[in-house]
Amino acid sequence: MPVLEYKCPNCGGGLELNPANQKMKCPFCLSEFEQAEIERLFAEQEKNKFNTDGAEEEEKARKDAEFTGSTNIYRCQSCGAEIMADETTAATFCLYCHNPVVLSARCSGDLRPSRLIPFMTTKDQATSNYQAWCGKKWFVPKEFKAVTTAEKISGVYIPFWLADCTVNGRVHAEGKKIRTWTSGNYRYTEERIFDVNRQADGVFHGIPADGSSKAEDGLMDALEPFDYSNLKEFSMNYLSGFIAEKYDVDRKDVFPRIKARVDENTEALIRNSMQYDRVNILDKNIVIEKTDWEYVMMPVWFLTYKFNDKDYYFAMNGETGKVTGILPLSKKKLFWASCLVGMIGFILGVIGGGIFL
Ligand SMILES: [Zn+2]
Ligand SMILES: [Zn+2]
Repeated sequence: MPVLEYKCPNCGGGLELNPANQKMKCPFCLSEFEQAEIERLFAEQEKNKFNTDGAEEEEKARKDAEFTGSTNIYRCQSCGAEIMADETTAATFCLYCHNPVVLSARCSGDLRPSRLIPFMTTKDQATSNYQAWCGKKWFVPKEFKAVTTAEKISGVYIPFWLADCTVNGRVHAEGKKIRTWTSGNYRYTEERIFDVNRQADGVFHGIPADGSSKAEDGLMDALEPFDYSNLKEFSMNYLSGFIAEKYDVDRKDVFPRIKARVDENTEALIRNSMQYDRVNILDKNIVIEKTDWEYVMMPVWFLTYKFNDKDYYFAMNGETGKVTGILPLSKKKLFWASCLVGMIGFILGVIGGGIFL
């Protein structure tokens, strides 16, 4: 039963009362909140609303209008990907399948990012990094390495969500301190057991997750880190000569990815504070109390290539030049890859059916 119009502090979904425990529950991201906590957050928000003057709103409306008036959306008719470009930079082919794209609409204001990191590497750098990256891989088909393929590398702004999460974590553990010594012919072991309770409050700033359903999540994660000190207020100038992907993954859809990272990091932080020889976690409860979102764009040099019905991906961080890619795995290659692991002790991350190299 929906109660009031309270929005989830993490993803913006409508909260519902959970009669079983009298908490407010979000049906989208499954976060739960105490009723008093929600009331407090909303009272704060209401107060802030009255403190802002109209000038800020007007400025936002002006920027949205400028963006809407000079940015076009192109749609790929074969795979459905949607990309954006300013009027001077007409998009011609689809990033993902290389088929022609057609102009489909003007952008709406809510697609304008608040900030972005501008491209700080050139197409020439991307091309030569790409060739160096390919050159080392004996199992990459010749066609993927060809110059005509390299020419298809595109500078793309990929939509990203940055989340600031306010977290409360509680961990209950059993800690052991172990001391051994010898005396005469005897060896003694002393084991002291401690009941350990830790609680931590904190804020994680700028946890990134891409907002594109077509870009492989693993590929995008592998491009991190981005240096946020280069984030600039969005301006149309930065789009000129580049294309941007239209975001199609909402905050509530990326929230599980964000939450997984928060959980892992909070637990690691708390665990690090436990100075015992052995720690056995008995119980933990990590709650994200509130999430502030920012929609930004990150620069990526991007190339996809289809060969024998398999997709090859190459991506380079447009800020730092960090290179990554996914190559399809055949059974034969997987066998060879695992042999290589055994022989030279390399670690290949096998994620989502591809190898990150
Ligand atoms: Zn939610
Ligand atoms: Zn396409």
